[in-house]
Amino acid sequence: MDGSPWGMVGRNIREIEGRIAQAAVSCGRRPGDVALLGVSKTFPREAVAEAMRAGLRRFGENRVQEAEGKAPAFPPPGKPEWHLIGHLQSNKARRAVELFDVIQSVDSLKLATRISQAAEDAGKVVTVLLQADLAGEATKFGAPPEEVRAILDAAADLRGVRIDGLMLIPPYLEDPEGVRPYFRRLRELGEALEAERPGCLGRRHLSMGMSHDFEAAVREGATIVRVGTAIFGTR
Ligand SMILES: *Cc1c(COP(=O)(O)O)cnc(C)c1O
Repeated sequence: MDGSPWGMVGRNIREIEGRIAQAAVSCGRRPGDVALLGVSKTFPREAVAEAMRAGLRRFGENRVQEAEGKAPAFPPPGKPEWHLIGHLQSNKARRAVELFDVIQSVDSLKLATRISQAAEDAGKVVTVLLQADLAGEATKFGAPPEEVRAILDAAADLRGVRIDGLMLIPPYLEDPEGVRPYFRRLRELGEALEAERPGCLGRRHLSMGMSHDFEAAVREGATIVRVGTAIFGTR
């Protein structure tokens, strides 16, 4: 024991990477095609530093304000990639564009437009994922498929964003197998959109799966799994 409260983080990461690899291989996928995003919300920068020592290079935060207190502690070189995974209000788009490398929670054309404008003003192009709502009113945020299509239709005008795939927060269910149909539907939505508009989803990321269900998500095609509790402990 080294006395640090984050001593277990490296071990947890290796265990999760092993489980991701097994789940991938079990369905004929390559382990390297699934990225592990460490969800560091509510955990201090020391926890992030420990995860970086274990080789993790991508972190997710769900609030702009919390990231403001954490991301600047890790300047280049060796700066990790920061992903926004929580709901973003349009009036915080500018700050989000400065802080985050990827905004996964784009769920309206209005928000996509604001992010694009802010990115253009800052002279950059920000990578975004479109957060889909596949459960109707059961989830609070996320774009219904029609809104996802509206954003894709406007993509040519959104010069400050690069649309790189889809993200899903399914309704919470204890049993990972119960969530699996939602994972499958996100993959199928991606396939349908790509068939209608080839290339519209860029690298075709599917961000889905959390601590209790990431293996099911990998079996349904996840390319990014967002894991907090299983790495850092309970919040
Ligand atoms: C908190 C959070 C996660 C991580 O959840 P865990 O159960 O702690 O792994 C993943 N995605 C989103 C959008 C979150 O807000």
